[in-house]
Amino acid sequence: MIAEVIIQSNVKNLNRIFDYQIPNDLENQVKVGSRVFVPFGRMKTLENGFVIGIKETSEYETKEIASVQDESILSEERIELAKWMSKRYFCNISDCLKLMLPPGTSNKEITKRVKEKNINFVTLKKEIDEIEYDIEIGKIKSDKQIRTLQFIIENGDVLVSELEMFADTSRAVVNTLCKNGYLEMIEKQVERDPFEGKDIVKTEKLELNSEQQKAYNEIANSMDDMLFSEFLIYGITGSGKTEIYLQLIEKTLQEGKSSILLVPEISLTPQTVNRFIARFGKEKIAVLHSKLSVGERYDQWQKIKRGQAQIIIGARSAIFAPVENIGLIIIDEEHDSSYKSETAPRYEAKEIARYIAKEKNIPLVLGSATPDLETMHRAEQEEIMLLKLTQRANSASIPKTEIVDLREELAHGNKSMISQKLYQAIQENLKNKKQTILFLNRRGYSTFIMCRECGYTAKCKNCNINLTYHSNKNKLKCHYCGYEMPILKKCPECGSEQIRYFGTGTQKLEAEIHKLFPEASTIRLDVDTVSKKNSHEQILDKFQTENIDILIGTQMVVKGHHFPNVTLVGVIAADGSLNIDDFRANEKTFQILTQVAGRAGRGKEAGRVIIQTYNPDNFAIECSKNQEADLFYQTEMSLRKQLKYPPFCDIILIGITSNNEKEVIEISQKLHQYMKKKLIEEKLGIILYSPVPAPIDKIKNKYRWRIIIKCKFDNNIMETIHQMLKEYEKMKKSNTRVIVDLNPNNMM
Ligand code: ADP
Ligand code: ZN
Ligand code: ZN
Repeated sequence: MIAEVIIQSNVKNLNRIFDYQIPNDLENQVKVGSRVFVPFGRMKTLENGFVIGIKETSEYETKEIASVQDESILSEERIELAKWMSKRYFCNISDCLKLMLPPGTSNKEITKRVKEKNINFVTLKKEIDEIEYDIEIGKIKSDKQIRTLQFIIENGDVLVSELEMFADTSRAVVNTLCKNGYLEMIEKQVERDPFEGKDIVKTEKLELNSEQQKAYNEIANSMDDMLFSEFLIYGITGSGKTEIYLQLIEKTLQEGKSSILLVPEISLTPQTVNRFIARFGKEKIAVLHSKLSVGERYDQWQKIKRGQAQIIIGARSAIFAPVENIGLIIIDEEHDSSYKSETAPRYEAKEIARYIAKEKNIPLVLGSATPDLETMHRAEQEEIMLLKLTQRANSASIPKTEIVDLREELAHGNKSMISQKLYQAIQENLKNKKQTILFLNRRGYSTFIMCRECGYTAKCKNCNINLTYHSNKNKLKCHYCGYEMPILKKCPECGSEQIRYFGTGTQKLEAEIHKLFPEASTIRLDVDTVSKKNSHEQILDKFQTENIDILIGTQMVVKGHHFPNVTLVGVIAADGSLNIDDFRANEKTFQILTQVAGRAGRGKEAGRVIIQTYNPDNFAIECSKNQEADLFYQTEMSLRKQLKYPPFCDIILIGITSNNEKEVIEISQKLHQYMKKKLIEEKLGIILYSPVPAPIDKIKNKYRWRIIIKCKFDNNIMETIHQMLKEYEKMKKSNTRVIVDLNPNNMM
């Protein structure tokens, strides 16, 4: 018999299936899903591989499998899923398999885990792209060094001991990489064991209100029927969605089955996890997220594999947890963009969840206060059952939202970032010892520099993008490649000293608040303050426990936290997300404003939300003011239909990058010609756009072009694109890379 093997090399990226003879004495052990050792090429050591198929004969001359390391590390179903993913998302099977294997799997057999309470973590000192490039061009030659770097790229910061254990490398290799500037040692607070610390008071299930009960019953009934069905719990913030999840999980547990609950990476804080521990105890719960060290993730993974943990709470990739007896999948905040992977494999966790739920005949439950337009559309089509929750569950009132027109403010001579109305509201809150959240609808790094005389802006030399000013280091920095330069006092183009900083970052806002309210205590939450020392969650903890007056933050403050003492939320400029170059601008704006408003008045006191904007007439802003979600969805849906955007079609992005501008253009044109020919020959019902430079047309010295296709994604178009990629392999130049992204999140 012949085994089809995917080689999982830590050194090379081999996206091919190789045939191997199964020796007679191994016939009983080699199965689809087995992990084997095989000889490969001229290499002296054996390579590690996975059997993804078994067949009678091969048309090639084959070598023999040397040994079996693990008879069934993956099930046949998992292998099928990996194959399905590699076709749908245009990626390597081995990249998909990696998502399903125990964390840290490498050539070396894992026998034990080093339990070191060391706080010296090894972290990457260069950008991933840069390291991968150096590997590609052969600047880093040693296999051990490559393996070490790739291990950290895949698994995040690690302890040296973990590296030795999992990646078969040594302290000496790490030292060399540190010396060469690829790695550095950092002191990091060991992420606390998700279950360590204070004992959590057990909670009992609450009596559901009638809307909650109806939703619960629908899902519970479908569970009893043992058929796949999909639900959307569309409930305003605080309407008790989580309580429904808790009770559905309890039912699943009583039936001896397991549940997976996906939450956005950013809200995977102890606050969230504790609610589940409080109901079900620590023993039965496993938590999977990227902030755990690889060793901790490995422990959690084993806890699931053993069947000890029957409730899995995790971010995107937890959908691949090795659950034996799955009974329920829930995806909370289903509109969150973190469910779509931006790197290969570029999968959408909701689609994977649907695949698994169908295969296992179990319910898939999506929940959100601001569902994705795609999900709403599918509910309209009755592919998903819509379950609405319209009231706040603990009788907290819905906050009152007001809009301030910043243009009028300016006309009245107020040049500050804070309008009169917001100023008074903050003052009142300070007087009443209530807390305030000020939300800046943009990322932390947004202050760029411009010469007022000639219009010169300081751009990164590697990426065609504005450098941003970081006041704590007093430097200009590129947030794509990390390039830094000292601040400018004079314009390098015209010599003028009229250099100004533009844009409003959180730092600037904080400084202004201190000027306006000298007595107020403030805390900032943004990419700059969330460093290795202060986690996102520690900042929020501090805000709550020390009763700090004002929290100033970016996107990070939006996600589901519960601060009973917050009665005022101010949105400094709602327009930040309207001016992005993306068809989802309205949707994102509506979602962000609704979510951030949901942070106000979650306790006994009523909440107040003040939204400042230059576009008070924009319908996304108006709808979020009046809490007219239905109107928003109707309006946006008809716009999308007119313009032929998702959910009325799929978008395929073909991205072409290269260090060589001529090459990138040439390949883009050839791929476009190929697709055009196919379009005509096969009468494909697609809209094919001409190749153009991406909105950010150069990153890290790589030119970026793209071809966009609008279509209804089906097998036909999928096959055509696979053929196009094969065609590309033939014309391939060493420098160029082509990726295909189905329904990308980020259009930049
Ligand atoms: P969501 O997940 O929709 O934001 P939560 O489940 O967090 O809402 O519920 C918001 C608040 O209401 C929580 O404090 C929760 O304990 C409370 N709550 C939820 N359901 C009920 C209920 N049936 N009766 C009383 N309080 C409830
Ligand atoms: Zn100038
Ligand atoms: Zn750059």
